[in-house]
Amino acid sequence: MANNSVTDIQNQINTLEQQLKQWAQEYYENDAPSVEDAKYDQSYAELQKLATEFPELMSSDSITKQVGGAQLKSDLAKVAHPIPMLSLGDVFSIDELKTWADNAQKQNEYSLTYNAELKIDGLAISLIYENGQLIQASTRGDGTIGEDVTANILQIEDIPTQLSEPLSIEVRGEVYMNKASFVALNEQREHDGLATFANPRNAAAGSLRQLDPQITKARKLSAFLYYAVNPIATLAVATQADLLKKLKALGLPTNETNEVITSMDEAQAYILQADHTRDELPYGIDGIVFKINELALQEEYGNTIKVPRWAIAYKFAPEESETVIQNITWTV
Ligand code: NAD
Repeated sequence: MANNSVTDIQNQINTLEQQLKQWAQEYYENDAPSVEDAKYDQSYAELQKLATEFPELMSSDSITKQVGGAQLKSDLAKVAHPIPMLSLGDVFSIDELKTWADNAQKQNEYSLTYNAELKIDGLAISLIYENGQLIQASTRGDGTIGEDVTANILQIEDIPTQLSEPLSIEVRGEVYMNKASFVALNEQREHDGLATFANPRNAAAGSLRQLDPQITKARKLSAFLYYAVNPIATLAVATQADLLKKLKALGLPTNETNEVITSMDEAQAYILQADHTRDELPYGIDGIVFKINELALQEEYGNTIKVPRWAIAYKFAPEESETVIQNITWTV
């Protein structure tokens, strides 16, 4: 390849990196995106394609190698995640999903089954319980360092301070704002002359990442938990579907629309059903997560530095009613 075309490609990569990092900062750190997710996803996909073709041109701090991609500048105390909190790989069509599942199947002699779950449009949270008592809550942050939001999480009614068994575990899931609370919050802010939030996800993140827990309390957040660190050992469960049942039995809020699927036809049916009914749900979803159901296989497949190899997010096409959110200034 001629030198100038390498330079062109490097320039293209640098421009995309710079743009995506700025958008990530606005989205994750300021909870105030200036572009719609579809626009971000399109640029990210362009960069990811270049990263696959030209790995030697990618820097070690490329956004394609980081969870989140924004620096944590808030005044909240920082918390380390010894077991990183990851993002999810994504696909945007049934064909891409099938290719992903075919590749996963090739690595295994048993027929894989998947637990299909709604992808809740909120922000990831880690909760640590010691002898059944909630002792720490933190955000995902950059995956290895998050923010301490324990005092704020205590204001969320859905989240128990005490489990039904005296277990010492770390569970993870999503904090979200339901649609009715989001509409009410934005109406109130409009009335008070404050900038409104772009969507329930940003409203949830802006409401949880607060120094004053009373603000979180007033914002009416909810949560769904869907993951535990070392679940086979700590919870004596063998599948993702059983893990959800166990979390519920412990008193944690879980989403019960999950289904174990055994074929891509069933996956497609689940996707269509969820896409058709998502407007009627009281909370926002932006896709479906397919997770290898056997927890032992999840361990075997493991993770890359950014995403698990045992799960994939199928993302819905953006809703037509989404508003353009450019050039709005935000206060939280
Ligand atoms: P993601 O939000 O697409 O997927 C990973 C996350 O999904 C997990 O961390 C978890 O919190 C969540 N999740 C929800 N339900 C889940 C379930 N049932 N099981 C497992 N995980 C579940 O990935 P990301 O890296 O956090 O963010 C990328 C997304 O953020 C993209 O959609 C992108 O468009 C958006 N984004 C937008 C902008 C912007 O400027 N508009 C900037 C940065 C990122």
